[in-house]
Amino acid sequence: MTTGTETEEDVVHILWINAGLSCDGDSVALTAATLPSIEEIVLGALPGLPKVAVHWPLIDFESGPEQGADTFIEWYFKGERGEIDPFVLVIEGSIPNEKIKDEGYWCGFGNNPETGQPITTSEWLDRLAPQATAIVAAGTCATYGGIHAMAGNPTGAMGVADYLGWDWKSKAGLPIVNIPGCPTQPDNFSETLLYLLYQLQGNAPMIPLDDALRPTWLFGHTVHEGCDRGGFYEQGEFTTEYGSAKCLVKIGCWGPVVKCNVTKRGWMDGIGGCPNVGGICIACTMPGFPDKFMPFMDEPPGGKVSSAATSAYGGVIRKLRNVTMRTIDKEPKWRHTGERLTTGYRPPW
Ligand code: SF4
Ligand code: SF4
Repeated sequence: MTTGTETEEDVVHILWINAGLSCDGDSVALTAATLPSIEEIVLGALPGLPKVAVHWPLIDFESGPEQGADTFIEWYFKGERGEIDPFVLVIEGSIPNEKIKDEGYWCGFGNNPETGQPITTSEWLDRLAPQATAIVAAGTCATYGGIHAMAGNPTGAMGVADYLGWDWKSKAGLPIVNIPGCPTQPDNFSETLLYLLYQLQGNAPMIPLDDALRPTWLFGHTVHEGCDRGGFYEQGEFTTEYGSAKCLVKIGCWGPVVKCNVTKRGWMDGIGGCPNVGGICIACTMPGFPDKFMPFMDEPPGGKVSSAATSAYGGVIRKLRNVTMRTIDKEPKWRHTGERLTTGYRPPW
């Protein structure tokens, strides 16, 4: 989608592949962004932005019946051939391991004109990653594998960094940028995209990322540190049933050890934010999700430490929580490339 006035040379293209294993929830979430909105980015309504052309299946006119899917997919071939530069590659959905089987494919995006066969999502990563100026993984599936990558899965699904390598750098020297969340908080995504566009213009320093490649200013604090129920926690008032305004830690809230800002920022336009409105935090932004947080409804280890120690000195609580935090901030070991499936899946045939 372009505004129609750009020349090829001064446009930054955004190639969005939503064909990993996912529900398209991150695409849907982005339509609710307000700080900034995707419309503001695409229409160049913010000062200092380069002109942007977004190739995004969800809204692109070229993916509709008028111009047809062939017009749309051509931008991705242009990206591979180096004919659009710079471009930011956005991946939505986890990357299944296509090497663990002899035939068929798990997921793909468009067809190979030479063979008429689908081009798998992992093949697109192989084709486009060397040409991309930046790669952004949108949502928990693309960042760390998410639900599809849990123990016992048959696809060997993994995150983009598991596939390309955690040390991968773009030709411009940028690491993969991870924006987890199930779905990603809309403004977390649009703001990070905005940051990268400013960085490409030379108007922002290198994007600051933590060890899990998340922007530090968005994922530097816990859910608990921003939660509206913090006062109840501090007073030792814990509910054991839903529908109460009290702290949810005893019914399974992982907020004390989970890095996420939705309790501060809300789900959209400042509204909501899981524990604020009565939903336990199930840790969807974390590399260890979902396996290290199962079953969700149990009182989490971080929570046991926290609620038992509310009267203890805060520094002691922080140290105890850090032990839990280090474990859950790492992915399980079966999310990897190669020809062996190690998820524990046993075929039923
Ligand atoms: S434990 Fe959960 S509900 Fe309780 S204050 Fe922390 S984040 Fe909020
Ligand atoms: S509060 Fe917890 S469950 Fe809600 S978005 Fe953040 S990490 Fe996910």
